[in-house]
Amino acid sequence: MRVALVSVGDELLTGDTVNTNAAWLGRELSDRGVAVERTTVVPDRTADIARVVNEYHAEYDAVVVTGGLGPTHDDVTIEGVAAAFGRDVVESKDALDWLEEHGGYSRDDLTERTGHVPEGARVLPNHEGVAPGCVVMSCYVLPGVPDEMQRMFAEIEDEFAVGSRHVEVVETPEPESALLDRLASVQEEFPVKVGSYPGENVRIRFTGTDPDLVAEAAAWMRERVELAGD
Ligand code: ATP
Ligand code: MG
Repeated sequence: MRVALVSVGDELLTGDTVNTNAAWLGRELSDRGVAVERTTVVPDRTADIARVVNEYHAEYDAVVVTGGLGPTHDDVTIEGVAAAFGRDVVESKDALDWLEEHGGYSRDDLTERTGHVPEGARVLPNHEGVAPGCVVMSCYVLPGVPDEMQRMFAEIEDEFAVGSRHVEVVETPEPESALLDRLASVQEEFPVKVGSYPGENVRIRFTGTDPDLVAEAAAWMRERVELAGD
């Protein structure tokens, strides 16, 4: 499965906000064996959002858009995504009912634009905030606030299950430079994809179509590195 990420927000372009959403989604999706092949930042501008979503929808199996979902007039993601698919923006009864039942809001508490989605979209409830997300075709639209985005992703993550890819991750506090020989050896030994990702711990990720080989490669490595949290 090939996926593109689109992060919406002027503040991401000016450097006022660091695009942690794309990093987080990239990692979550990659850990599931999904190939994240594009990540693009666009301003809060309907035409730019529409153009990029339209282009990526044609090219990738799924597009994940974050940000610009709020009820203020500088939040235009819903308009942009609707335009990408040639749809109108409509008030969603599902979204408003959910906000009333679970959020304790009455229609009068909410601004006029709240609960608006592209026509025909599936609404994703926002457990951490007000603005709902939605899915149009294979385009997933999530909030910009990281906690809200991560919680909503948990609702849809199963839709990114990758049929025959298997993934195992080994985490070690050893520095990556010290691991190079073992990374080379495991790669020689097992026909699986090996990636290593430095951070607080180094994450060594094994991906492949054969679950036994992926497990064997990860076990080989677990026996030979200091494990994180030990
Ligand atoms: P709101 O309803 O709060 O307006 P929203 O879905 O419209 O939410 P934005 O207005 O784009 O989201 O951003 C809300 C907050 O989330 C801002 O503080 C913004 O800096 C932060 N944020 C937005 N996009 C990202 C991102 N890609 N990475 C990290 N933080 C982000
Ligand atoms: Mg906003």
